[in-house]
Amino acid sequence: MIIIKNDKELDMMREAGKISAEALEYAGSLVKPGISTWEIDKKIENFILSKNAKPSFKNLYGFPGSACISVNDVLIHGIPDKNIILKEGDIISIDLGANYRGYNGDNTKTFPVGEVSADIVKLLKVTEESLLKGIDKAVAGNRVSDISGAVQDWCEKNGYSIVKEYTGHGVGKKLHEDPSIPNYRGHIRGPRLMCGMTIAIEPMVNMGSPKVVADPDGWNVRSADGLPNAHFEHTVAITENGPEILTLP
Ligand code: MG
Repeated sequence: MIIIKNDKELDMMREAGKISAEALEYAGSLVKPGISTWEIDKKIENFILSKNAKPSFKNLYGFPGSACISVNDVLIHGIPDKNIILKEGDIISIDLGANYRGYNGDNTKTFPVGEVSADIVKLLKVTEESLLKGIDKAVAGNRVSDISGAVQDWCEKNGYSIVKEYTGHGVGKKLHEDPSIPNYRGHIRGPRLMCGMTIAIEPMVNMGSPKVVADPDGWNVRSADGLPNAHFEHTVAITENGPEILTLP
């Protein structure tokens, strides 16, 4: 069931989105060679708590961290780990949300660690651009598939592949609400977008084959071919004035 937010709820979503975005910006400032993903996660948790909010991901479905931190070929759901130390040339996707007074924000960025190869610079740029192209279509009266198609077209035009097993989603009091927001066109056009919907749009893009595999513990999801991938996400409200990105610092 798609939950439409009223004006008061949208204001709460704006607060949660802002804290989520500030936490992600802060997390990005920590990214450098020598730091562990565990240390970044602890600092994210403290930052979110200092804003009188709670990390949305902590303990959700049993996830142990405050943020999903995924390095190199890991696309999503990376568990923060003391033994994963960043080094020059890595990429790191940080996916986090803040729950503020019962409402959630959700956002992700893939950051380069120091200098990365030109191939990777392009992958990150195209993936972020595809997110913005999807957001442009988050307009009342459009269908979910208009967002999906805009993301897919931009990534495929640039020679990348879309991961199909995981999608964006509605977001509100629950981190994951209806509807699903795929990053590719399916056989159905998906629900019509309406004012008051709040959705997380999140392209997950592989440099090589679209195939992904989960580690035996079910968490870290990697590119099957070991090539890099990228993940960018914003929480967006559909309003009378068009799409409003809620996860801006
Ligand atoms: Mg999400």
